[in-house]
Amino acid sequence: MKFYGDYHTHSRHSDGRQSVEDIVNAAINKGLKEVAITDHGPLAAVIGVKSADDYSRIKQEIEDLSDQQSDLSVLIGAEANIRDMEGTLDIDAELIEELDILIAGLHPYTLPTTIKDGWDIMVQNSLRHLGRKFRDKAVTANTKAAVEVIYQNPELDILSHPGLFFKVDIEEVARACIKNDVLFEINCGHKHPPISDIIEANRVGVDFIINSDSHFPNTVGNLDYGSWVVDRLGIDEGKIANNRSGGGYKKWSKKLKYYAYS
Ligand SMILES: [Zn+2]
Ligand SMILES: [Zn+2]
Repeated sequence: MKFYGDYHTHSRHSDGRQSVEDIVNAAINKGLKEVAITDHGPLAAVIGVKSADDYSRIKQEIEDLSDQQSDLSVLIGAEANIRDMEGTLDIDAELIEELDILIAGLHPYTLPTTIKDGWDIMVQNSLRHLGRKFRDKAVTANTKAAVEVIYQNPELDILSHPGLFFKVDIEEVARACIKNDVLFEINCGHKHPPISDIIEANRVGVDFIINSDSHFPNTVGNLDYGSWVVDRLGIDEGKIANNRSGGGYKKWSKKLKYYAYS
């Protein structure tokens, strides 16, 4: 299938190995109409941006590149980290205002809001191999963290790689996505979720988005895993938000939807 854009990429401002310009050039070469630079929020150790100010630097770099001759639109976004079970992200409302796209995901080594949250999410996950009791508790905590973030952040557009690093109850997460108009990501960089989880999410009826999660220029717009899954499972292309005929992020951006109706 053909895609309108790739809405999940990382530059050197977080843990990518590419400049904003590299991402833009790679997206032009792939023939995309839109690409989003979505660096990690600041509170994940090692992989995050150094400070929230980095997003205005990225925005400036995007503006500086905007006189390049192409019909590519470049969007600024963030992949925020989920910090606790109350739906708290590591970027604040003021910054979210400045972004075109908001993604959230669970990532290892994120600074939790409190020590208890650190125990419930991070520690339980690292104890998972000890046995069923810890495993079940970890899945419950992870699911609650993902579901709350969906309910508490009305601007959230995309839940990234559901279940990666932190196993979740896919059905529950999928239902929360549907109720809150959040896109369920098929992440081609990690080839995640696995087919069985995608079948489950599709059965529940989510809308998907297929992204690269690119960290290197040669993977921008590389959406083959998603394409293959959609073909193999016979998923309706209308359920893929970034399919080529879908019309781009203006059709699904939560923020634009709110402005349109308020
Ligand atoms: Zn991620
Ligand atoms: Zn990512």
